[in-house]
Amino acid sequence: MSRAPPVLRVAVATPLRQLFDYRGPADPIRPGMRVRVPFGRRRMIGVVMAAAEASDIAEDRLKAVLETLDDRPVFDAGMLELLQWAAGYYHHPIGEVVAAALPKALRLGASLAAQEERWRITAAGRAACGQGEPRRAPRQRELLAALLLGERSTAQLREQLGEAWRAAARLLGTRGWIESAQVSSAPPAAGDAAPAAGAGPPLNDEQREAAGRIEASLGQFGAFLLQGVTGSGKTEVYLRVTAQTLAQGRSALVLVPEIGLTPQLVGRFRDRFGVPMAVLHSGLTDHERLLAWREAYAGRARIVLGTRSAVFAPVANLGVIIADEEHDASYKQQDGGFRYSARDLAVMRARRAAVPVVLGSATPALETLHNVAAGRYTRLVLTRRAVQSAPPRLALIDLRAHAHSAGLSTPALQAIERHLDAGGQALVFLNRRGYAPTLLCTACGWVAPCKDCDARLTVHLAAQALRCHHCGAEALLPQRCPQCGFAVKPVGQGTERLEEALAQRFPGVPCVRLDRDVVRRRGDLEAAVRRIASGEGRILVGTQMVTKGHDFPNVTLVVVLNADQGLFSTDFRAPERLAQTIVQVAGRAGRGTRPGEVLIQTEFPDHPLLTGLLQEGYEGFARTALTERRQAAWPPFSRLAAVRDSARTAQSALDFLTDARALADGARGVRLLGPVPAAMAKRAGRHHAQLLIESPERTALHRFLEAWLPLLAALPSARRVRWALDVDPMELF
Ligand code: ADP
Ligand code: ZN
Ligand code: ZN
Repeated sequence: MSRAPPVLRVAVATPLRQLFDYRGPADPIRPGMRVRVPFGRRRMIGVVMAAAEASDIAEDRLKAVLETLDDRPVFDAGMLELLQWAAGYYHHPIGEVVAAALPKALRLGASLAAQEERWRITAAGRAACGQGEPRRAPRQRELLAALLLGERSTAQLREQLGEAWRAAARLLGTRGWIESAQVSSAPPAAGDAAPAAGAGPPLNDEQREAAGRIEASLGQFGAFLLQGVTGSGKTEVYLRVTAQTLAQGRSALVLVPEIGLTPQLVGRFRDRFGVPMAVLHSGLTDHERLLAWREAYAGRARIVLGTRSAVFAPVANLGVIIADEEHDASYKQQDGGFRYSARDLAVMRARRAAVPVVLGSATPALETLHNVAAGRYTRLVLTRRAVQSAPPRLALIDLRAHAHSAGLSTPALQAIERHLDAGGQALVFLNRRGYAPTLLCTACGWVAPCKDCDARLTVHLAAQALRCHHCGAEALLPQRCPQCGFAVKPVGQGTERLEEALAQRFPGVPCVRLDRDVVRRRGDLEAAVRRIASGEGRILVGTQMVTKGHDFPNVTLVVVLNADQGLFSTDFRAPERLAQTIVQVAGRAGRGTRPGEVLIQTEFPDHPLLTGLLQEGYEGFARTALTERRQAAWPPFSRLAAVRDSARTAQSALDFLTDARALADGARGVRLLGPVPAAMAKRAGRHHAQLLIESPERTALHRFLEAWLPLLAALPSARRVRWALDVDPMELF
């Protein structure tokens, strides 16, 4: 019999970029299990990453593990590798990476093994029962009678006897007639037959081809881009591949950008399969998240569906990973310390688990298209809408040539009228919530500013408030200018004002608004979507929220109110995001049997991005955009990382990055850009700045960061800032 390795290498949640060695207990511990360890003056919970024969730390200074928290690993070998890889790739301390991957309850020591309290009758209880005891306690007698037939779980007893069972159990317990124990509920046997799947529609040729290619890869790694316009039937392909996976006795991990915005997708998985599902998203309480992890870990949930951090969820017998809307920026963790891309980690996880991964989108990220071109991903294309083949007609409205009121041009208003008359619904898209983005005094020129941000306060008329959309600051809506006492007026358009204008222009036509001000609680979105889907709402006004995952079969017209925001940004990704938004919102038109029309209002109708998109669609846009990225040596033709910091003064924020840059002097294979203050330098009272590091190749960037980052922490100017590294940043400022 082999002896347990004496040394355990443990990931502990600290900013130190290393593992910590401990002497293991007598019982063997496998990598992936949680342990409680002494750490400085504290005790902390860490995860065993590896076992070693010896440590660099002297035997007498090596501390011992205090307690083992799991009896089998929380993370399997593939996941441990993935976490190590992520710590390296994102240059983040391994202990914090591992902590970020765990739900809070598990970080605090909760048990992952699903536990059940089971009750049984004791010998004394049986004897008492035989003598007709207890005489005047019908509840207790009932409980004993139930246990005479065999062990019962808490849940079973509650169901059988109602809430009163607990008091009865306590009394019987004190008399020693019954007893209970915590036992792990057994995971289902591997290869349980998958319950019969509900039938989907027969797939069309393209869908069948796509599903077939993915299914042929079940059991081995393969990365697929499933590209198809909204409504082309991507979800049906996911469902088919999932059905095959379940039939093979394996489970599926499905990632979505934001669950609140995609209830329809969740519903379709739930309706199609009669298997338990674990759903993971940011709206769960810590306990709910723990329960969902337990279901997934024990293999009871056969489909695990969730947002970003679900990429770390345990999935017993993983068979396939699907990431819907893979281009969506919410897959990237944009704040905090560990800034990872769940989409990219999904691909790495699939590789380690030897399963296929499917990235679905109507508007794939340029990085993903580049990976296709490089032969790393296989592209599967759905060219037609599944239920209706005519794509919507796109046209531009030149805002300089047409009168407009409340942001709506005459041609747009005429089109809305036409579509309403024809019995259709119209969707008006404006990516700005609130009533108006500015409150202005026409006498002295004062505009309501946020005192903590370089931003104006947005007017929220219904709430009679001024709100900052960047820091959340809120003030009462003033009636007069605080500077000169003259009347103030809201300037510009927000969705609230747009709704008001449409109600005036089309009296009696019900309008539904969709933005974060009206969708606040669970169920709000579903309610709004129902009003639109039922035809009760005829005009739909909305922000980005309407571009995601909803099926509005009767919407025949989409008006994009202002496409110009993304045209002239300093962020090299802005055109990509704009094109994606336009295509996604356009995809809401004409999903039923009627053809759709899309009108885009702009002051720049000759802008190549817009004309290219109109003439050649996303495909054409992507080709042009990739050429531009290549010429400018931006990703995916180079590798990028950003050091962002914030401080109480603009000077401190810049000083740290200037010192950081000086440390990099003479570094080879990388180019440093900046530091520059963020476009909105002041946010929530802190001043932000950034320094970009660019390299033609990943290894050079990696080598540089490896050597450079540890030096930054030691800079005296680091003490006055909060800073973080962002590898593959999604948003530049
Ligand atoms: P996507 O995910 O690409 O937006 P969906 O899978 O949601 O597309 O399909 C759009 C609509 O077409 C859905 O209502 C779906 O039920 C239907 N659909 C998809 N594939 C087929 C098919 N092969 N036959 C009939 N209807 C289909
Ligand atoms: Zn004034
Ligand atoms: Zn603010």
